[in-house]
Amino acid sequence: MPRSLRPTLFPGILLLGLLPVSCASQRPVGTIALEAPVPSPPAHASVKERIRYWEGHLPRLSRDDQSEARQCLGELYLESGNANQARINFYAARKGPQSRLEAAQSSYGIGRSYLLEQRASLAKSHLVTASKGLSGPEGEECNFLLLYASGKALPKTDSTMMARLQPYLGSDVRTPVASSNGTAPGFADVSRRDWGAAPLLANHDPMAKPFRLTIHHTAEPATTQRLADSYREMRDLQRMHQQGEGWADLGYHYLIDQAGRVIEGRPMHAQGAHAGNSELNRGNIGICLIGNFFPQPERGDDYALAQKPSGEQMAALDRLTSALQSHYGISDSQIWGHQDLKQTACPGPFLNEWVHAKRGD
Ligand SMILES: [Zn+2]
Repeated sequence: MPRSLRPTLFPGILLLGLLPVSCASQRPVGTIALEAPVPSPPAHASVKERIRYWEGHLPRLSRDDQSEARQCLGELYLESGNANQARINFYAARKGPQSRLEAAQSSYGIGRSYLLEQRASLAKSHLVTASKGLSGPEGEECNFLLLYASGKALPKTDSTMMARLQPYLGSDVRTPVASSNGTAPGFADVSRRDWGAAPLLANHDPMAKPFRLTIHHTAEPATTQRLADSYREMRDLQRMHQQGEGWADLGYHYLIDQAGRVIEGRPMHAQGAHAGNSELNRGNIGICLIGNFFPQPERGDDYALAQKPSGEQMAALDRLTSALQSHYGISDSQIWGHQDLKQTACPGPFLNEWVHAKRGD
C-alpha cells in the first residue's frame, strides 16, 4: 500500500471500512456529521478495482474529500504504473484546500509520476518542493529519490524502502539488498517478511533432514530485475500455490530472481511440494529459478521462446547450492533436475545441463 494511503490520509477507508472520507485529520470539527458515510472498497480489492471505486464516488464527495480522493487516486495510478493519470489526479488534488503536508504529498506524487516515466529532470523541482514539507520515512524516501533525480550517489538503504522505491528508479539502478530485515535463515537475501508472505498453513509435513535438492523453473517468463516485481511475483506464486493448488505454502524453499537474489520461499522446517509426491519431496530442498526456460508455444507468444537464466541467476544458484550442500552434507549425486524425478520439461535444457555437470553425469 502506498505510504500516503496509510492512516494520516484515509484511516477510516483503509482500516475501518464504514467511516466517511471525512475522517481525515484536517477536517474542521463540525462538518463531520454532514457527509454520508462512504464505504471503503473491500480489503482485497485490486488496484484497478480501487481506482474504479474512487472514481465512481468522486462526484458525491465534498470539495475537501474530493481533494483527498484525488490524492488517493494519484497514488493508485502510480501503483498501477499509469504516470499520466497519476499526475492529473495529483494536480486536481492541489486545487482543493490542502494543508502544507498534503501539498507536499501532491508534489511528491507529481515528482514520482515523472520518475515513473524516466523523466528525472522534470521530477526534480517537484521533489525539491516536496522534501521541504515531508518528514519521517516519507521524507527519507523523497530525499532518496531527489538524490537519484539529481544524478547523485545513492546511500545504502534497507530492502523494504528499496522495494517501495524501485518502480521510480531506472532498471539500470540495481541496488542489492544489503541485509535482510526478516529471518531468512542464512541462505536467502530476501526473507518472507520482506516480500510480504502469507503465513504457512497447517497442511504440511515436517521437513526430514535434507539430503537432496531439486532444481526447477517457474515456467513463467521473467522480464524484470526490479525488486518490487520480484516481491509481487512471490506473492502471486504463493497465492497460486495456496489458493489454486490448496497447498500449505509455496511449493519451493528458495527462489532466485533474474537479478540473482535468493528469496526465501516455504520455510525449511516444512517439507516442500515441488518434486512430485510426498516420497519424492521427503528431505528434498526445492530451488526454483524465476523464468521460463522451456519453450511452451501452446501458451502463446510470451511463452514460445525458452529464456536462458541470467548470469546473476546462475551465480546465485552456484552459491546457494554450495552453501546448502556444505551445511546439510548433501553430495553432488543428490542434486536433481525436476525431470530426473518426474515426467516434466522442468527445469528446461539449460538448467538440466547445469545439474548434470554438477552431478558429473
Ligand atoms: Zn519443476
